[in-house]
Amino acid sequence: MHRSVARVVPLTPGVELESKLALSEFLLASTDLEASSRQSLDWLVANANIRQALVALNEPSHPNLLLIAAHGVSANAAADFNVTRDETEHPLLQAMARPEPTFFDHASSIRSPIDTQLYHVVPLRADPGGACQGALVVSSSGPELPADVLWVARVLAKQVDRLISRQTLAETRFGEERMLLYSIINAVTDPILLTDTEGKLIIANTHAEKLFAAPEDASEGWRRAVALNNMLFSAALSTSAVTQTDLARRELLLVDPLEGSDLLFELLSSRAKDERQGTYVVSILRNITDLAHAREEIEESYRTLRVAQAEVRDERHRLDLIIDSVVDPILVTDQEGDIVLMNEPAERLFNVPASSGEAPQRRVRANGANLTSFVSNVLTRTGEQRYRGEIPFSDPQTGRLLPVEAVAGTILSEQGELVWVVTILHDLTEAIEKGRLYEQLKFASAELERKVQEATAELAQQNELLRRQHIALEQASALKSQFLANMSHEFRTPLNAILGYTHMLLHGVTGTVTDPQRKSLSRIDSNSRHLLALINDILDITRIEAGRMPLNLSSFQIPDLVHEVMSELEPIIRRSNLTVTTRMKGKLPIVKSDRQKVKQIVLNFLSNALKFTPQGSVTIGMSYDKSERCVAILVRDTGLGIPLEAQSKVFEDFRQIDSSPARGYGGAGLGLSICRRLAQMLGGTIKLVSAVGAGSTFTLKLPARPPRR
Ligand code: ADP
Repeated sequence: MHRSVARVVPLTPGVELESKLALSEFLLASTDLEASSRQSLDWLVANANIRQALVALNEPSHPNLLLIAAHGVSANAAADFNVTRDETEHPLLQAMARPEPTFFDHASSIRSPIDTQLYHVVPLRADPGGACQGALVVSSSGPELPADVLWVARVLAKQVDRLISRQTLAETRFGEERMLLYSIINAVTDPILLTDTEGKLIIANTHAEKLFAAPEDASEGWRRAVALNNMLFSAALSTSAVTQTDLARRELLLVDPLEGSDLLFELLSSRAKDERQGTYVVSILRNITDLAHAREEIEESYRTLRVAQAEVRDERHRLDLIIDSVVDPILVTDQEGDIVLMNEPAERLFNVPASSGEAPQRRVRANGANLTSFVSNVLTRTGEQRYRGEIPFSDPQTGRLLPVEAVAGTILSEQGELVWVVTILHDLTEAIEKGRLYEQLKFASAELERKVQEATAELAQQNELLRRQHIALEQASALKSQFLANMSHEFRTPLNAILGYTHMLLHGVTGTVTDPQRKSLSRIDSNSRHLLALINDILDITRIEAGRMPLNLSSFQIPDLVHEVMSELEPIIRRSNLTVTTRMKGKLPIVKSDRQKVKQIVLNFLSNALKFTPQGSVTIGMSYDKSERCVAILVRDTGLGIPLEAQSKVFEDFRQIDSSPARGYGGAGLGLSICRRLAQMLGGTIKLVSAVGAGSTFTLKLPARPPRR
């Protein structure tokens, strides 16, 4: 390394005074060190034929020499420039310590970014004895230092001194202003923070520090609360302030680190840009916890109010429904008697369309006046809860008088003042009509009762009459029976005598009888027998009627009885040329009954069948019905038959289908009526099935044991 004090070359002739003046003016106007240095180097390159040059600053606050401007130096070389101020042995620092410029003829040893072998280092001093504030390094072709370089070094030194002392002053002033700013933001009761965009704290006032910073000796809970607040704050910023450049407003819920209670803040954050600090965020937190409470309370009372309003509305609606559903007119009037509420039926009395004419309007006015006077009556009667009266209303449309009963009740306020009068009107028309109808009904009912009584009395009278007639008839019947019984007896005695004598005459007791005499005697005999039979029949009927026919019960076999009947009628059967057969269904039990009477019935059936069957056959059937415990004896013929209308009559006394004297059959019409009476006595029945031309079937049904009496 070769180093020597530079020799100053006199001022380059031809260098324009003007360009120097221009540089001086620029430096005077500039407050920027970098710009000033660069301008100075540019001047040297332009006016002093310098190829490479740099300006390094020696700032007391900085540990390194600062390369603030360079010309002809590669970017890498500039970046490598690193000279610490402690390296007192460094040739550059040593050169700067000298009062004069130093010439170097070997560059590598001082790690200068200037890569030429030869260069000058000119210390920058404002005053000859003052501190070195930097160095101007210029490349050189020889040891001579151009006077222009020296001039530039001198003006640049002055400029550096001026700007550095100005910067120091500014910094001191800035420090003061900073303090002032701190006291201002601390005086604000809202937490204020300056953060980077991620929420990292740069500056905070004491109120913010309470929320976002914990002292060394803070409890665990405090630390955790602070950590949580920081997290919440960063999250809030990342969703608001960072995405917007304008003022962002949002709510932020934080924790009071000392109390542990919730604190609600309104976070106002805005982004700001600073050349030195870059982008940062200013946030102001306004405590709105109480505001939120107040808002909640207001909301709650508003909600309560809304609910109450809805309830009142519902109540009113319900009331309207109730009032409208009542058929009777209902009116609510205030203290002045003005109607404040009424249902539809009431409207019909107090409202008519304007188009309905004068008369209805007049009636409505009259109704209103009547109501008002009624209500004023109610109002004067203080102390009474109910008031009842009649109001003479009229139907506005028809003018018909409406008798109305009004019931009024008063409604008092909580202070006991009368607020409303509720009046219910009840149309009495119907009630009056009902009353009238009721009176009519009562009269009609009384009339009816009277008539019923009369009829009942008449009926009782007739009943009595009938009862007497019945007794008289019974007596007459008994007398008749008695008479008939007596008469029959009286008839039979002489008739038996006739029969006895006829019999004797016929058997020649009184001498020989000629044939014509015999013939006549036979006629007397048969007619007498017929008469006797008739008298016997009448006697039977009268006996039965008089209840004097005795029952003689015995056990007997039905088939035996039937055979007995058949053999008794044998001569008639033979003469009739009819086939008479018996038919038995199943086994018949021994019957206990009045054998004589049963025989009389069967005998009557068979003789009728023989009598009214000109040809064909007669069947006698016998059967037993186990379930009914009844025996049945039927006599079926193929004879004339009995027309339907005569079938019930043949059982009446003296009834014959053909009662003309020309009829060809004997009999008095008493046989079947006696049979029916006898069957009744035995607890049995007689049934007839017959059709004209198809024959008849008479059936006697008998209980196998006599019924209990
Ligand atoms: P009568 O002594 O006249 O036979 P009944 O009382 O026995 O009296 O009979 C009454 C009438 O019933 C008879 O006159 C006859 O007209 C009719 N009648 C009875 N049985 C028969 C029969 N089997 N077929 C047709 N008619 C009959």
